[in-house]
Amino acid sequence: MTRPVRVLYLAGSGRSGSTLVTTVLGQYAGFFAAGELRYLWQRGEVENRPCGCGLPFRDCPLWRAVRRDVPVDRAGGIAGRLRGRLRLRGVPALLRRHRRGRRAVPAHPDDAALAGLYAAVARHAGARVVVDSSKLPPYGALVGALPGVELRVLHLVRDPRATAFSWRRRRGLDGEADQRLMSRPPVWKAALLWLVWNTLTARLWAGEPGRYLRVRYEDLTADPEATLGRIVAFAGAGPSTGAEAGPFTGPATVRLAPTHSVAGNPSRHRTGPVPITADVEWRRGLSRWSYAVVTALTAPGLRRFGYPWRRGGPAAATPEED
Ligand SMILES: [Zn+2]
Repeated sequence: MTRPVRVLYLAGSGRSGSTLVTTVLGQYAGFFAAGELRYLWQRGEVENRPCGCGLPFRDCPLWRAVRRDVPVDRAGGIAGRLRGRLRLRGVPALLRRHRRGRRAVPAHPDDAALAGLYAAVARHAGARVVVDSSKLPPYGALVGALPGVELRVLHLVRDPRATAFSWRRRRGLDGEADQRLMSRPPVWKAALLWLVWNTLTARLWAGEPGRYLRVRYEDLTADPEATLGRIVAFAGAGPSTGAEAGPFTGPATVRLAPTHSVAGNPSRHRTGPVPITADVEWRRGLSRWSYAVVTALTAPGLRRFGYPWRRGGPAAATPEED
């Protein structure tokens, strides 16, 4: 019997700092920053987009080793079926199954290949913890039910007005030179997705304290080193040897070596000394109208996750306990 693979799953909605957290975690001994593994089959294998190290996915030595152990010849089919299994409209049925104590995402013949992927990544990366920043809660539920996977969920939440603003900024998918831009949903859509994915993440896992940790982007950027330390301890890569001091060169500065993360936003390619500071451009940049729309649509979640209604209002009351 082989040891299960510990997967630290970053769940929530987009633009909440998950790429940064994944890259920083990848600098700690025992952790491997895999990136958004749900996209490996399509963006990695089929489209051969760049790995975090800069090489095309299929040329990266780490992924070349992993590819020998997974059915890459079926990548296109697996990617298509995965999209079908994770659709937004499937969320109500997913919640019903979860409430009844059944598998939230039903088993499927592709699951053997998916389980094999996590095992191969842990083996070839020599990692005790595989950090998967796929974010989508239904995929996290699917991964948590795979044989040989031991799931821990890191729920990253950020002020929805900030994420809505961030979605509107233009950004190449694989860096500045990339003409294919990341999707830019209108603010109302970004707001609704924020509410759906964050509520669903809490519903699925918040009741399991040992398996679930919630961290707000605002708290992370206010005290990066201590917050990352908390996340590392929660993920439990094993006893610290002291040599695993992590990448911090100051309380809010990290030195980043390249990672082999697949998919994710362009900042995953950043290396060298990188400051971790709060991105608050939205406070000036988001229009009053957009602010009002996002606030109204995300109202149930604002209170739950401890965000103020008013712009410049008292920074976050204590979030409600689940
Ligand atoms: Zn690579």
